[in-house]
Amino acid sequence: MKTSTVPPKTSGLSVQEAQACILGKITPLDTEEVGLAQAFGRALAEEVRANRDLPPYDVSAMDGYAVRAADIENTPQTLQVIEDIKAGDTPRFSLQPGQCARIMTGAPLPSGADTVVRVEDTRPLENDKVEFPVPVKQATDIRLCGENMRQGDVVLQPGEEITPGAVGVLATVKQAKVKVVRKPRVAILSNGDELEALDEPFDPRKIPDSNSYALMAQVQAQGIEPDLLGIARDKPEELADFIQRGLRYDVLLISGGTSVGVHDHVRPTLATLGATMHFWRVEMRPGHPVAFGTSEHSLVFCLPGNPVSSMVCFEQLVLPALRRLMGHRRLFRRTISARLAHAVKSRQGRVEFIRATLSRDASGNTVATPGALQSSGDIRSMACADTLVIAPHDSANLAADAITQMQLLEAAAFQDTADIEGYSTRQ
Ligand code: AMP
Ligand code: MG
Repeated sequence: MKTSTVPPKTSGLSVQEAQACILGKITPLDTEEVGLAQAFGRALAEEVRANRDLPPYDVSAMDGYAVRAADIENTPQTLQVIEDIKAGDTPRFSLQPGQCARIMTGAPLPSGADTVVRVEDTRPLENDKVEFPVPVKQATDIRLCGENMRQGDVVLQPGEEITPGAVGVLATVKQAKVKVVRKPRVAILSNGDELEALDEPFDPRKIPDSNSYALMAQVQAQGIEPDLLGIARDKPEELADFIQRGLRYDVLLISGGTSVGVHDHVRPTLATLGATMHFWRVEMRPGHPVAFGTSEHSLVFCLPGNPVSSMVCFEQLVLPALRRLMGHRRLFRRTISARLAHAVKSRQGRVEFIRATLSRDASGNTVATPGALQSSGDIRSMACADTLVIAPHDSANLAADAITQMQLLEAAAFQDTADIEGYSTRQ
């Protein structure tokens, strides 16, 4: 018989309320030190400061000639080359009137020089003389000392994601070890008598367990390697054994068996094992029967079994939780506004997440085309989705051409064409 610590409500929390409830129970995990080679994708747990001025002195931004701008005010002008300076050299002479120095990109400017003239804008003459045919403004093509960073400047903040660019900054300030927040340990459990595991013999009457793997990949996309606990059958004792193992992890994701069917044992079993259930049901579609609880050490998400519901609930509720645990400042998927290619039906009362693909119209504006199949049982609608179009809970339908808010999924990071010189509409 079903019991629950939360009396069933007909509607449930809004998505925002559910997110707030979950995030309110999470503080970032402990910190650890990792080598720079392991830091990519993690959240920084310390403030990082520059340990020197960069550039350390005024340097040339081009291959060319270091000059005194006053010397080439009246052109054409001929100057005498007194030395060659390459990156890493220390200039030996100070420039006197009528003199210049051949200089390479990144090389220190000799004293007296205040301008660099690109080699393309000069003409070599005999006896190490150079002609400057046109005047060049003072301070051209010089990178000033400390222009990129000054010793003591904060260059990265705690909570920032360590992107490839941030790895470059860390290397620049010689931070071979980085303090980051540790990754959560995540377990994934599927539940249902009808499920067939990937390594089980093919039985045409069974339903393949796709949720374990789709959730695995969603977790992996955050840089976390989850453990797959397998499939618990719809028997309370067997389910309890699996869940007990799962409650040793920081996060337990259970899919299936969270609704009101007589074989939906997940929530009562969790309650028996001492977990506190904080909510059940969220006003969203797909994903309405989702539940969330906590035990002494774990966050537990009970995701609906339908493959799309499970993935969409992960996106809305699990993802921000994992990112908060990992110490990230940015918790949510980036949203954009784009035009809808055609009308889509949505029902009032719940926020709907509609799977769509992105392309461009003839003017180069982004267009979202909702997929023809929006069934929560059709996993293929997730396989080709770049974005989840958000139909607000009070909107009955979304009209063709409506400018609509949507969340960008992993697949949206890439497109077919380069579009460097204007947008191509062939995508
Ligand atoms: P449930 O949430 O257990 O009522 O399941 C809802 C639907 O999702 C049913 O059609 C299940 O067969 C299906 N389902 C449940 N778990 C999985 C899974 N791990 N992989 C694929 N489909 C599933
Ligand atoms: Mg089931």
